Amino acid sequence: MPGLEDLYREIILDHYRSPRNRGELPVPPARHAEGHNPLCGDEITVFLDVDDADVVTDVRVSGQGCSISQSSASMMSAAIKGKPVPEVRALVRKFKGLMSIESDGDDADVADVADVADVSLGDLEALQGVVKFPVRIKCATLAWNTLTEALDA
Ligand code: ZN
Repeated sequence: MPGLEDLYREIILDHYRSPRNRGELPVPPARHAEGHNPLCGDEITVFLDVDDADVVTDVRVSGQGCSISQSSASMMSAAIKGKPVPEVRALVRKFKGLMSIESDGDDADVADVADVADVSLGDLEALQGVVKFPVRIKCATLAWNTLTEALDA
């Protein structure tokens, strides 16, 4: 019977080989941001359509890089599509928590802790093994930092 690490490896490779929401959206109206991880050579551009109700109605990701960076971007895109922006931001914090990164939280963030607990990471938990390899954490978080920049764009 395959172990959990094999299962996680399969999920990561599946997203790497068949990335979800690949492509671009017209800017404007889409918001977008580009991210680079010079340590590994990863590049990710995130495109977001956010409607008047503050819901991420569409997301596209383009870029290139290692399997961790690209599969993390694919999982991120699948996880945030159709979600309200506050929930997306909660997911960003939860994922960074999984990566053992403290949120640079102001007091406004603290009030949202209950929301964060309710957010399901799903396939994203497959990336938790990355924490054992500090150099790869930047690969895994690149899509999420770029997402935050796009939200703030
Ligand atoms: Zn990388």
